[in-house]
Amino acid sequence: TSRNGHEPEFIQAVQEVAETVIPYIAEQEIYSGKNILLRMVEPERLISFRVAWVDDDGEIHVNRGYRIQMNSAIGPYKGGLRFHPSVNASILKFLAFEQVFKNSLTTLPMGGGKGGSDFDPKGKSDDEVMRFCHAFMTELCRHIGPNTDVPAGDIGVGAREIGFLFGMYKKIRNEFTGVLTGKGLSWGGSKIRPEATGYGTVYFAQNMLETRNDSIEGKTVAVSGSGNVAQYAAEKVLQLGGKVVTLSDSGGHIHDPDGIDAEKLAWVMDLKNNRRGRISEYVKQYPGASYHKGKAPWHVACQVALPCATQNELNGEDAKTLIKNGCICVAEGANMPSTPEAIHAFHDARILFAPGKASNAGGVATSGLEMSQNSLRISWTREEVDQRLKGIMSDIHDSCIEYGREDDGYCNYVKGANIAGFVKVADAMLAQGVI
Ligand code: NDP
Repeated sequence: TSRNGHEPEFIQAVQEVAETVIPYIAEQEIYSGKNILLRMVEPERLISFRVAWVDDDGEIHVNRGYRIQMNSAIGPYKGGLRFHPSVNASILKFLAFEQVFKNSLTTLPMGGGKGGSDFDPKGKSDDEVMRFCHAFMTELCRHIGPNTDVPAGDIGVGAREIGFLFGMYKKIRNEFTGVLTGKGLSWGGSKIRPEATGYGTVYFAQNMLETRNDSIEGKTVAVSGSGNVAQYAAEKVLQLGGKVVTLSDSGGHIHDPDGIDAEKLAWVMDLKNNRRGRISEYVKQYPGASYHKGKAPWHVACQVALPCATQNELNGEDAKTLIKNGCICVAEGANMPSTPEAIHAFHDARILFAPGKASNAGGVATSGLEMSQNSLRISWTREEVDQRLKGIMSDIHDSCIEYGREDDGYCNYVKGANIAGFVKVADAMLAQGVI
């Protein structure tokens, strides 16, 4: 903490890992005296740069751009770009650190990184977003490459932004390579990539429920967020016979007791992806629903909760309310949405709880599959990618069980994911020496 005391999110993410991994390291002879965790918490490289761009009125703006190259022991750096006013070094370091473990869990050869900017795409025209993305890439392009560092999307970076970023990279480098994932289908993107994080989160929840001879079918599900991850998590819940009753954005959440069916979800997707509107508009379209300003949806009774918006959106009180109302399974679609107090409450109540680094790994896993397809210059079918995604989520689940089982038979997925992710990276670092 002395070196990173001003970075609360980063410290929170490291503490969560340290709590479970340090006792494990203490029992393993090979890691003794190697200071592996100390080496892992220091980014291999942290790049910060100026992004100057001109708005539609001719005014010049300056934002700060970042790329954090955290760990490349098992493959090129890989992780998303976030465009949001809250972005700073602490948030990106927490995300990059989590990414190292997550990518290791996927079984694919990817190191960990993360990047982004404090640029706010909300309220900007398409042309302004394009000019910002182009300006951002004129600097980022010197630090990335298909064998070095392969960024993807995250909050505020979707298909539109990836298109603008890719276009500028291609122009500057004069090469068409898989340097970014989340590309459009006609120019190197993978089928199922837009769906992968949300679908994967629900596949993981299904795997967890199966350990108790249960399933998503017939369950009432609370989802937060209404962006990429939330939309496809909701879609998969519907396909598996569950009922989604909430969605949210940074303004508040909607509660639809009748359930958000496929038609309503299509309306939300159009609202968010094309019209770029607010979730509050849902209640005008569907008056049976209610809107709760400034609140997360965790007071709504549900058996399954899928936090899919942002970090620290579910606190200890929320967790207790969920448990009291009959929640039996929580799978994180977002990164670190549950506070440490919430996680302790879930563990104490012995309900199923999956940390994002395990349950939302389907997105980066499918990005890894996009990289493979780009290298081979082929394109797999939807069914093929979906099967691989399902298989990877099931393998991650098995790894969590292997390392996370406690004496009373309860699976601590946090411990399981942290140790399983750690072992592969630590072994590679040991083999490569002190560098
Ligand atoms: P989007 O930008 O598509 O959606 C983000 C959603 O979260 C929006 O509904 C947004 O509301 C809401 N949100 C953002 N910030 C806040 C906040 N401070 N308080 C409340 N709500 C907020 O992003 P994604 O769906 O891609 O990402 C969501 C989460 O999933 C993030 O934690 C991300 O890191 C994680 N993730 C994403 C992956 C991916 O493949 N996209 C992969 C793995 C994890 P609003 O529109 O009002 O801002």
